Amino acid sequence: AERTLVLVKPDGVRRGLSGEILRRVEAKGYTLRAVRLMDATPELLAAHYAEHEGKPFYQPLVDFMLSGPVLAVVAEGNNVIAGFRSLAGATDPTVAAPGTIRGDLGRDWGLKVVQNLVHGSDSTESAAREIGLWFPELV
Ligand code: ATP
Repeated sequence: AERTLVLVKPDGVRRGLSGEILRRVEAKGYTLRAVRLMDATPELLAAHYAEHEGKPFYQPLVDFMLSGPVLAVVAEGNNVIAGFRSLAGATDPTVAAPGTIRGDLGRDWGLKVVQNLVHGSDSTESAAREIGLWFPELV
């Protein structure tokens, strides 16, 4: 079945929302294949966010992702890549629809980087690449 990489970002872990976010993933019917609370590293984030290098929010994003532990998750299920992005909602929590993780739980902190609780892979290619980065032992 299809797999995706989900990250509960440091704001989600810090706010005690890891369980609520995993609950929503499981309630949707996806299977958790791997879950690990970990500290990201600059090297891991440089690879994960390579497409954003040079953008104005890049360094704030990396600093934010290093600000505390991240819960890395591999979720599996039919259409889980698009399905999780639908569960997550729009990037900006102030416009994300109610019923979504970011819409229900995300806040506008008025910072240089959007602290939007979660990451989800956006394609089969990025899912494979990102699962390889965060869970090298699975590939
Ligand atoms: P989505 O694809 O749903 O927008 P994403 O997490 O994949 O979510 P990306 O465009 O890949 O979003 O950006 C990665 C992350 O960088 C975002 O989740 C957010 O935390 C941050 N970010 C993106 N765009 C901005 C921006 N314009 N200003 C500040 N932070 C941003």
